[in-house]
Amino acid sequence: MSYVFFDLEWNQGYPRSEAEKIDEIIQIGAYRLPDWEEDGTAYSAYVRPSIHKKLHHQVKKMVPLDQPKLKRAGNFRQVAAEFFRWCGKDAVYFTWGTCDARVLDTNLCWYGMEEYLDIEIYDLQRAFDLLVLHTCNQTALETAVNALGLESRMEYHDAGNDAAYTARIGAELVRRFGRLPDREELDRIETELREKQRREAAQAAGESLHILCAEETPALKRKCSRFDTVNDCLKSRSARVYHCPECDNWLCGGNWYRVGESYVSRSRCAEHGRYLACLTFQPERGDKLQGLLRVYAEEQLPPDLFRQCKQGGERVEVCQMPRKRRRMRRKKTAVEKEIK
Ligand SMILES: [Zn+2]
Repeated sequence: MSYVFFDLEWNQGYPRSEAEKIDEIIQIGAYRLPDWEEDGTAYSAYVRPSIHKKLHHQVKKMVPLDQPKLKRAGNFRQVAAEFFRWCGKDAVYFTWGTCDARVLDTNLCWYGMEEYLDIEIYDLQRAFDLLVLHTCNQTALETAVNALGLESRMEYHDAGNDAAYTARIGAELVRRFGRLPDREELDRIETELREKQRREAAQAAGESLHILCAEETPALKRKCSRFDTVNDCLKSRSARVYHCPECDNWLCGGNWYRVGESYVSRSRCAEHGRYLACLTFQPERGDKLQGLLRVYAEEQLPPDLFRQCKQGGERVEVCQMPRKRRRMRRKKTAVEKEIK
């Protein structure tokens, strides 16, 4: 078995037609490790473009490549076949992120080489993010190289160099963690991580809301009386529509986020900025509920509060769209219009 890390550079068109939208590979770079301990061998080849013959101005800025070099290169079918021969039959494939796999697939299909779609490609970026930084942030290759303290002397954005960097990261992760988790394990780690982040956000939001309601005087405070259920109140105008505390503009709160026993939503006055509404409930006479609405101006809030409510809270949609009914409506023909 060998481990093949590959990286692609591609060119794009100026979209006018469907074909112009294809990202066309102009360089394949790879690095192959015979096993995790040894040094590997490098591969790099340019591809002569046939879809977008001129380099897009943004690609020119990013990629250290010139047009004459590309014109002398082999076409995609030749280069791709040579690349897969070089990888060998028992290769395991790795990339940084999912873009390279997507672009490889569309190029293989465009040139009728779909027999190569069978290869499995491991997203090393995801493993790095989850194992090392404990995020789902899609870390840039250079940032990851630096975070792991790996040697970083080659230029980035050359497919060959980027592939070699990816291989170094792969070997380093295996050195640190023993082996790389498979896709199911990564899914499980990601689910646990998101759940942990959600719990932490909910905790922080709950604490901040508690302090806010206890210590800050709301810009607006009112009672929303006599509701049968919490949901009725959340959807009512009395809980969602209010005057801007500074002017006559009517404001309307968006979806609610439930944090503990409070419900939070956001609104905005075009002149006075964003507001956060916090709604809590208490029982009222005769099995009814009373809501207490407090509205705070943005400058009264801790900076992250609404984001934490969104991340940690349970979302209560205020506007569930009714199912669309198909209406048959025929356009009047020119003749019918004339008759009228
Ligand atoms: Zn206002």
